[in-house]
Amino acid sequence: MTALRFPGVVLPEGEHRDVFVVDGRITYERPAGAETAATGWIVPGLVDAHNHLGLDDGGAVDDDEVERQAVADRDAGALLLRDCGSPADTRWVQDREDLPRLIRAGRHLARTRRYIRNFGHEIEPEELPAYVAQEARAGDGWVKLVGDWISREKGDLAPSFPPEVFAEAIRVAHEHGAKVTAHCFGREVLQPLLDAGIDCIEHGTGLGTDQVEQMAAAGVALVPTVMQTAKFPGFAADGRARFPAYSGTMEELYARRREVVMSAHEAGVAMYVGSDGGGPQRHGHLAGEALAMAEIGLPSADVLAAASWRGRAWLGWNAGLDEGAPADFVVYDRDPRADLGVLYEPRRVVLRGRVVA
Ligand SMILES: [Zn+2]
Repeated sequence: MTALRFPGVVLPEGEHRDVFVVDGRITYERPAGAETAATGWIVPGLVDAHNHLGLDDGGAVDDDEVERQAVADRDAGALLLRDCGSPADTRWVQDREDLPRLIRAGRHLARTRRYIRNFGHEIEPEELPAYVAQEARAGDGWVKLVGDWISREKGDLAPSFPPEVFAEAIRVAHEHGAKVTAHCFGREVLQPLLDAGIDCIEHGTGLGTDQVEQMAAAGVALVPTVMQTAKFPGFAADGRARFPAYSGTMEELYARRREVVMSAHEAGVAMYVGSDGGGPQRHGHLAGEALAMAEIGLPSADVLAAASWRGRAWLGWNAGLDEGAPADFVVYDRDPRADLGVLYEPRRVVLRGRVVA
């Protein structure tokens, strides 16, 4: 049995301590013969709250590529991934000691011909409740709906399903013990989902002031995926010729992006850090999302908490590095509270007590 020692400043408390790792767990009782592995600022393992392990531009990827994606995330310090929909069966990742911990959502549930090809199950309203039950059983406590997408008939963003169908879908998921989250770019989709008791909103660019207050009061989380919504001008440009209304909507949503995120923050909505790795984003970019959230105006301390201890607690894991907690943490050379940029350069990544990077 090798015991490792990490002397440093342990967050979130900010105290100088000697952290020891024995048998995959944290201890503060000095074991005999502990070797010093690294020193610095010690942060509970980061959480990518919106990730798509097993997904690439064309849909599902093979297991070798899943592994490369997971390693890229892990080496960037993301040790707990909240999958937000994947067509690949990634359950095997959970049996691998060297890969990040993974909370899966099953496959995206989208409307027929109204999502990216090969990503989700594309279905009609009457099929949604049965598919929700199926994905709730297949996942690890989350179901992912594509709340809205471009409707070619309307030429604009439109909710994927009618309000009563969303409500039934959320009821069925909850009955199966799963929480529900939804991809939401536009405005129209949000009120029916919030009124039906959804648990989390992804992107959320259409949120209004009254809705962020409703979210805060009901404890609905928001993963704003700021790197992803930065691409809206590109989507608007691509759609301008064929879908001018859609193009205008995307520009308008982009223009309100900062206002939405800051009003959610001011209302006290719990926000988490999601790279959207696996779809149009690549894996291993959680630091970029943390920086993007700070650049849009969120306090760095809140972003760091969301990316680490608060995100972990939200997903049911040990928030901090308490005695006996699983030894999942990242060591940095500088204080990330003072400089989030250091998240790009982990000194050491420790997962299940093993130095993996
Ligand atoms: Zn996504």
